[in-house]
Amino acid sequence: MIEFFTRIIYILKGWFAQEQEDLVPTKLSDPLDLEFELECKYCDYEENVSVHESDYISWHNGEFIQDAFPYLTAGQRELMLSNTCDDCWDRFFPDDD
Ligand SMILES: [Zn+2]
Repeated sequence: MIEFFTRIIYILKGWFAQEQEDLVPTKLSDPLDLEFELECKYCDYEENVSVHESDYISWHNGEFIQDAFPYLTAGQRELMLSNTCDDCWDRFFPDDD
């Protein structure tokens, strides 16, 4: 009889462990939780950008920046990639069109 209860407790423990793993928050709906202060290295331009931590991790794991941060503007992504603001980028690489 004691063995029977012990077994039950083990099953419950396993179940609770499972539950707790499920409690790890999914990152799909959480707020933007990482804030960066981006600076242009060619001028004094500064901009604060907020991204999802999970997106930042994806980016570091090799995801294309436009896929990792679809909600950032091209200019913000460029600032993250190369510390070059829109204005300076246009100055260095003027559009021929
Ligand atoms: Zn600049």
